[in-house]
Amino acid sequence: MAWLVRRAKLLIMEPKDLKKAGLKATLPRLRILEILQESDSKHMSAEDVYKALLSAGEDVGLATVYRVLTQFEGAGLVSRHNFDSGHSVFELDDDEHHDHMVCLQTDKVIEFHNEEIEELQRKIADKHGYELIDHSLVLYVKPKPD
Ligand SMILES: [Zn+2]
Repeated sequence: MAWLVRRAKLLIMEPKDLKKAGLKATLPRLRILEILQESDSKHMSAEDVYKALLSAGEDVGLATVYRVLTQFEGAGLVSRHNFDSGHSVFELDDDEHHDHMVCLQTDKVIEFHNEEIEELQRKIADKHGYELIDHSLVLYVKPKPD
């Protein structure tokens, strides 16, 4: 089964992960999960997923892609990011916290993690009498001039 023979990645989701998330392992769901895992870009819009399915010769409509991605989001399998630069992008939820940088010229998404920023945010919340539960930080950037 091609499904099981794939490049080793940090995060391998299998049909049983769908079931654990309360979703039946239908073909479109399996294919879309596969695309999200195999893709070189970790952050994909519904259109990106749709195009990848098309070039893999899969017959899955754009409406189905949207529906499945929304189901995945509801089941906690993927996170959706609504970056200001354009439409939502989805990425597999790997439980590893990271923040994002979005290049406004190329739409490229860069991930980063900075412990100083993490700590600073905890301190700010604490100073206001709160405990930090979660945050999302997006830096909008453009390439530096040469
Ligand atoms: Zn990310």
